[in-house]
Amino acid sequence: MDPISISDLLVATGGHAADGLDRDTNFKQVVIDSRQVTSGSVFWALPGTLCDGQDFVRDACQRGAAFCVVNSDRNDWGGPVVKVANTGAALSQFAQWYREQLEPLVIGITGSVGKTTTREMIHAALSADHCGIRSIANYNNEIGLPLSLFQLEKTHDYGVLEMGACQSGDIRDLCVIAQPEVGVITGIAPVHIEKFGSLDQIIQTKAELLQALPSHGFAVVNGDCPHAQSVAAYANCPVIFVGESQENQYRATNVRASQHQLSFAVREHEYHIPVSGRHHLSAALSAVAVATEVGMAAEQIAEGLLRFATPAGRCQIKQVGSWTIIDDSYNANPTSMRAACQLMQAWKTGNKKIAVVGDMLELGEEAGRYHHELGIQIAQADVDCLLAYGDNAHNVIAGAFEAGMDAHQMAECPMFESLLMNLDCWLEAGDVLLVKGSRTMRMERVVEWATRQT
Ligand code: ATP
Ligand code: MG
Repeated sequence: MDPISISDLLVATGGHAADGLDRDTNFKQVVIDSRQVTSGSVFWALPGTLCDGQDFVRDACQRGAAFCVVNSDRNDWGGPVVKVANTGAALSQFAQWYREQLEPLVIGITGSVGKTTTREMIHAALSADHCGIRSIANYNNEIGLPLSLFQLEKTHDYGVLEMGACQSGDIRDLCVIAQPEVGVITGIAPVHIEKFGSLDQIIQTKAELLQALPSHGFAVVNGDCPHAQSVAAYANCPVIFVGESQENQYRATNVRASQHQLSFAVREHEYHIPVSGRHHLSAALSAVAVATEVGMAAEQIAEGLLRFATPAGRCQIKQVGSWTIIDDSYNANPTSMRAACQLMQAWKTGNKKIAVVGDMLELGEEAGRYHHELGIQIAQADVDCLLAYGDNAHNVIAGAFEAGMDAHQMAECPMFESLLMNLDCWLEAGDVLLVKGSRTMRMERVVEWATRQT
């Protein structure tokens, strides 16, 4: 973050500084967790579901915060404060103001699946010739996006920002803050359908990014997604389609996916990315399209993409002792589960392939059907053993059984402990393990367990 004065913060947020706070004082860091306060940083006290950030103001002051941003009239803060009407809204206002002081190319990314992966690929490509930032961790909401934005400094010429949505209007609000000139739609799928209600609503919400783009900007849309045209119709700027099918402007040919590398050609240039799974093609193409459109040479883009590092828990290939673990434990939905099954199917090994899957959440009334379909996909992926964990495990098992897996190849595990016990019995040297489930299922515990066994 570039140095900002307290008086600028007051202008941006309409806040009031406590007596004695020098308005010319500059700060260079905003944190929302008092444990991250270092000398001179600003502690922004946000309301939480379990506790109120304002209860940690005293702690932040003791740790050396320059001042804290609060919204109530208490007088026992233990240090200087700036008072605003609503700390959440003020964070957005301040982030918007901060963004307006800078002139980087802001690239917004949304979509039902693959935002973080796409963001990392775009950053890998652009960083071969430019200096910029991308969102922190999975910070993609009204709190995370401002904190990510604060990483921008005058020396940066781009920022790649992930935008997530829980409901209609979320992406629009994030765009007001970030003011992207480039928008990337990774794809539309029935993810979080329980919250959105319908696929149409999901399309409209993702389209808020395209509606926010200025006419001199451009959009990149996964053209192989069945909803590409519907979403693109909302744009007021040129839309570039990427994909494998003929009509895409950035079309991949000669696609080769090995266990550790994805290779393809676009407009006669070859790209190789150290990533596992053919489903990463649309992210890679989006990166090629964005970087090419901003004027980078194909050789530079290829060089940048070679440095791509898979984000944690997203199809990460880990060698744990003699076992190969496909650690896709970060999250799951029907789209990413299908991709993981395809990866398992393509995986060549002389040993057993074991799928350890946890429930996919937020699927509403369709949950049973989606889990049943998952069982079928697992059976069709030449998986030797299936361990299904969670309330919907019986549906996964039923699907796999129906599609031809034997009962002795599968175990339904309503409890996590029984999952590990079964895995312990089945695992042999050299086995390949897919670990995947929704975030709340915390399937990374399986990877941790396997690591402890070596
Ligand atoms: P979130 O909404 O949680 O932020 P995201 O949209 O950022 O998710 P990622 O974190 O990139 O998505 O990936 C989530 C899961 O989807 C991972 O398991 C990843 O391997 C898988 N995935 C990534 N890209 C694709 C894709 N194009 N198709 C199918 N699955 C994908
Ligand atoms: Mg993400």
